[in-house]
Amino acid sequence: MWTARVFTLYPEIFPGPLNKGLYGKALGKKAWNLEVVNIRDSAEDKHKTVDDTPFGGGSGMLLKPDILGRSIDSKIKKGERIFYLSPRGKKFDQKIAKEISEEKTINLICGHFEGIDERILSTRNIEEISIGDYILSGGESASFVVIDAVLRLLPGVLGNKISKDEESFENGLLEYPQYTKPQIWEKQSVPEVLLSGDHAKIKDWRLSQSKDITRRRRPDLWKKYLDKEKK
Ligand code: SAH
Repeated sequence: MWTARVFTLYPEIFPGPLNKGLYGKALGKKAWNLEVVNIRDSAEDKHKTVDDTPFGGGSGMLLKPDILGRSIDSKIKKGERIFYLSPRGKKFDQKIAKEISEEKTINLICGHFEGIDERILSTRNIEEISIGDYILSGGESASFVVIDAVLRLLPGVLGNKISKDEESFENGLLEYPQYTKPQIWEKQSVPEVLLSGDHAKIKDWRLSQSKDITRRRRPDLWKKYLDKEKK
């Protein structure tokens, strides 16, 4: 069973949005597993201190390496990958989501305050991943993003309710436009080709729409797609 182990100072906010709909059902059925570790449980003093001021000065507080180290060491098993959610990390994308979905257990560390002591990263062989170029107040919402993207890919979570192969990014292109009933809504009809019943034609139309949208909206993805096609 795929397991996400999350290290956080705010365990009470989990599973949060991951407990809804099919994800919640899948969690109940044990199609995936969530283990939430309260970093503060590893604090030793009376006040349960987890942070301290940065050496060299500067604003804010940092998560202490001794506390975080103890928390990690008490839970992780050998060989498990550990990710620190961090704006400095490698940009999270569908490819990394797929890679993570193939692990048995992954560990996600949610930082807070100004971040964490750098030494924890190298001593525990931690990989940094970012969900985008902006700064969040903590890693929790980023961990929801990562887990959400991975759960979609797990067999037995969404079942065949979602056609994963057709989704944006799967073939390097953004998704084509989709329509459902009513066929005419506010005087707008759906594209004729979708009513034709001609599956080959529909497939062609969708591919050309996908290409068009990708070319216009995401020149970066379009370039990658063209390069791949050339090979
Ligand atoms: N001082 C740090 C930012 C700390 S933000 C810096 O400038 O790099 C506080 C915490 O939020 C971080 O420890 C991290 O876990 C999380 N976080 C913030 N932005 C993030 C992002 N874009 N992706 C993933 N995690 C993020």
